[in-house]
Amino acid sequence: MKKHNFYAGPSILSEYTIQNTADAILNFADTGLSILEVSHRSKEFQAVIDEASALVKELLNVPEGFHVLWLGGGASLQFCMVPFNLLAKRAAYIDTGTWASNAIKEAKLFGEVDVVASSKDANYTFIPKDYTVPADADYFHYTSNNTIYGTEIRKDPDVPCRLVADMSSDIFSRPIDFTKYDLVYAGAQKNLAPAGVTLVIVREDALGHVDRPIPTMLDYRTHIKKGSMFNTPPVLPIYSALQTLRYYKQLGGIAALERRDLDKAALLYNAIDESKMFKGTVTDPADRSIMNVCFVMTPEYQELEKQFIDFCTARGIVGIKGHRSVGGFRASLYNALPIASVQVLVEAMKDFEATH
Ligand SMILES: *Cc1c(COP(=O)(O)O)cnc(C)c1O
Repeated sequence: MKKHNFYAGPSILSEYTIQNTADAILNFADTGLSILEVSHRSKEFQAVIDEASALVKELLNVPEGFHVLWLGGGASLQFCMVPFNLLAKRAAYIDTGTWASNAIKEAKLFGEVDVVASSKDANYTFIPKDYTVPADADYFHYTSNNTIYGTEIRKDPDVPCRLVADMSSDIFSRPIDFTKYDLVYAGAQKNLAPAGVTLVIVREDALGHVDRPIPTMLDYRTHIKKGSMFNTPPVLPIYSALQTLRYYKQLGGIAALERRDLDKAALLYNAIDESKMFKGTVTDPADRSIMNVCFVMTPEYQELEKQFIDFCTARGIVGIKGHRSVGGFRASLYNALPIASVQVLVEAMKDFEATH
């Protein structure tokens, strides 16, 4: 039975992506070679990376002056690459979860870090609203979607300095106004491709303003100059990313994806809000993530949590156990998840509640 895959990452990919990747593992672009054994410098792979970069720019409406990079090291390497390249003296960060605080920890190695707000004391169940970003900061860094806690900042912030975002778990789920941004990064394994590649979109004129020496591999300018081919890039994940990007374009682009994502999230949040057995962990509905929906059982039912997971497993629903720091349940509704899977989950919640 095909599973309903709610894992938080690595996570569901479209059948289109998986089928085309499987085909290329057997025979890539009629080369008679597998994508696993072909040179990254072959003209066939050059065409793959070129088309993938062009589709990122097209789908996200990235203006002139930006570069699309395909790097290794995960989103976590960006936590240090960003300050290495952009933090001259002082940067501002907002602490909205584990990933944000990991980014803050790395930035402190490079200069002063002004944490403008934090919701840590409330176990990150909301997005702080009242804070000021200092105009003299080299940049402001935020995490647009807090994968573990199920909160999201869906509006591009207005700040008086450069703007950097970790969009690992919600990129391609909404339009982005790149005129406000200097750098956006995303590990691929949530909305794009298998693990192993990180998408970075960087404004060229944000670079070159720090005095420290930067190791070659950690300098964005190296990868810009070499078209993400200074060293061997993650060939297979980039190939899969291209398939996902083609699929997104066929579906109608970002506007269509966003509509689908909003519908899926509304379906699940409504079911949670109508239920007496389940409740959402994010207090303000405006902060609720449309990608990762976190919920728990109300106190009188709490001992049934394990039983509910088993009930779901029997219906082919996988990956809904909450992160250990939150508990309860987390259903990740990434772009590739069909609404039919959300319907199956909602039905399971209703049936379980009716019989317990
Ligand atoms: C998954 C995730 C990360 C970590 O990504 P890696 O590629 O494993 O380093 C960072 N930030 C956010 C928002 C994430 O969801």
